[in-house]
Amino acid sequence: MKNQISKNPVKKARKEKRIKKLKKEGLIVKGVEIPKGVLPANPDNQAYSGGYAAKLYYSDIHYTCAGCSKKEVWTAPQQKRYFETQKGNIYNEPKWCHKCHLKRMRDKEEKSKINA
Ligand SMILES: [Zn+2]
Repeated sequence: MKNQISKNPVKKARKEKRIKKLKKEGLIVKGVEIPKGVLPANPDNQAYSGGYAAKLYYSDIHYTCAGCSKKEVWTAPQQKRYFETQKGNIYNEPKWCHKCHLKRMRDKEEKSKINA
């Protein structure tokens, strides 16, 4: 191979070794190195179209419930399950705590019963 970016073969070998190690550890997703301490994602399992919104990794999201103002955390494993197992909308952001979410679902159900 000619025209290599790095002229220092030691440096290059070290970098290649590092990338190989990261790949082995699953810390390179779609050619992108992901930060330490996050949960690697599998974009192929996500229900996205176009590819720009695909999540490469998950980290805990802290938010405030829009219903009761409770401080909540959407953990990385919960996100992985939501996006990759339940095929959740990739653009979805957490808004409600579990309790308010259930209440909303129930209200919705009640409404559809009345309308039916
Ligand atoms: Zn709430």
